[in-house]
Amino acid sequence: MTRLVILGKQGAGKGTQCALLVEHYGIPHISTGDMLRAAVAEGTPLGLQAKAVMDAGDLVSDELILGIVEERLAQPDAEAGFLLDGFPRTAAQADGLTELLAPGSIDLAVNIDVPDAVVTERMLGRGRADDTPEAIARRLELYAAETAPLLEYFGGQGRLVTVDGLGSEDDVQARIVDAIDDAR
Ligand code: ADP
Repeated sequence: MTRLVILGKQGAGKGTQCALLVEHYGIPHISTGDMLRAAVAEGTPLGLQAKAVMDAGDLVSDELILGIVEERLAQPDAEAGFLLDGFPRTAAQADGLTELLAPGSIDLAVNIDVPDAVVTERMLGRGRADDTPEAIARRLELYAAETAPLLEYFGGQGRLVTVDGLGSEDDVQARIVDAIDDAR
């Protein structure tokens, strides 16, 4: 059973690292950002509701996010474990997750640590629709206000490791795998 939460700023490399971890541990990557972008691309009612919020760099409502995560975690492939990426992002989402799972059932939260200046540069370089300078600044502001407190939330439960997110993808991957295996 490997139930992991991957934390880190926008542009810290969560998506890249999760793709590598999926292969290493054989568990699904559950990215709320990817699920929302898929809904936008398909033009579903959820996508139509989320698009403007995402383009502005704001957070989609906790209620909506908790609904899509609950549905996704109920799929059979999540029984053996999962990698949550981009969720929880607020205290309300963390509480909602605890309610969905039995208390304490996240094994570990891994925080990929990268300075603001570096993530800003990386995001400007990848050029996603919501990677405008204004939206990036807004996302980092929301990260500091809403998501950074989750480090204390998981840390207080003794379920947090922080790894240095600078260096090659392989180096960061090795640090994360070591941290996860040490914790098990
Ligand atoms: P980034 O980490 O660069 O913000 P994501 O792909 O994780 O990229 O998310 C893209 C956008 O989707 C966010 O800016 C936000 O609008 C929305 N989003 C994703 N996950 C959540 C979440 N857990 N809660 C609220 N909004 C979310």
